[in-house]
Amino acid sequence: MDTDRLLRIARQHIETDRLLGVDAVPQGAPRELPQAVLAEATTPAAQATPVADKSSAQPALIETTASPTPAAVPSSLNEMSPQEKADALRALDEGEVKSCTKCNLCQSRTQTVFGDGDPDADLLFIGEGPGQNEDEQGVPFVGRAGDLLNKMILAMGLSRETVFIANVVKCRPPNNRTPTPNEVDQCWDYLRRQIEIIRPKVIVTLGGPAMKMLLNTRDGITRMRGTWHTYDGLAPHGPPIPLMPTFHPAYLLRAYTPDNRRKVWSDLQKAMEKLGL
Ligand code: URA
Ligand code: SF4
Repeated sequence: MDTDRLLRIARQHIETDRLLGVDAVPQGAPRELPQAVLAEATTPAAQATPVADKSSAQPALIETTASPTPAAVPSSLNEMSPQEKADALRALDEGEVKSCTKCNLCQSRTQTVFGDGDPDADLLFIGEGPGQNEDEQGVPFVGRAGDLLNKMILAMGLSRETVFIANVVKCRPPNNRTPTPNEVDQCWDYLRRQIEIIRPKVIVTLGGPAMKMLLNTRDGITRMRGTWHTYDGLAPHGPPIPLMPTFHPAYLLRAYTPDNRRKVWSDLQKAMEKLGL
């Protein structure tokens, strides 16, 4: 093993430990950590500001299995090229989401937040909904929770540009309240179609609401995280997609304990393993 490689492995150990507070690193080929992650890491606990408590969320339970999917997916979706996926996502965003007035959240939003990343990504992260920064910038996860999500992605050896990040609702709920079951219901079709187009190999849900919606469950995140579940919403036109629920980065910021960090990193490592990273 050459010196460079040893140095990279050592650095990844150190960075992973620093960013996530754990000492486990992925097996297999080490990766160069991008420069951004090598910059002085912030200590989220030290600068914690109140984050809206979304833990009591009771989102609508959506039927995600094979049953009625009127807008049937053309089988050609199976063979979409990266460019076709990009075009289909843009059409959905610009043709429907940007002008959507299906629920009341359209009245208070600055702009919609469709999602961000590679239309052909293998890994899809799904959060809950835009916060203030996201509403202002039109991009998901750009606030403090976004900073932590970025670090998690970098620690996985990936970058924001190589994954896709979306939310359950595309418009910011006022005061960051949890979206109501009706709002989630109204918005669901957009996320369903995003998943259909992107066809990720793995979905990681961030927090309880996204998990509950995609898995159609009332079980809590604490019980469900860390084990593989399946998103069946593409049936019968598409494959089941392995889904790993983990904690929301905003929760992690509020409860930045070694135990929680270890759990999230362990969940992400399972996703990496599934992706062959
Ligand atoms: N929290 C979310 O769930 N989504 C965002 O885009 C930002 C914060
Ligand atoms: Fe439309 Fe979703 Fe925004 Fe509601 S939250 S207005 S359904 S895009």
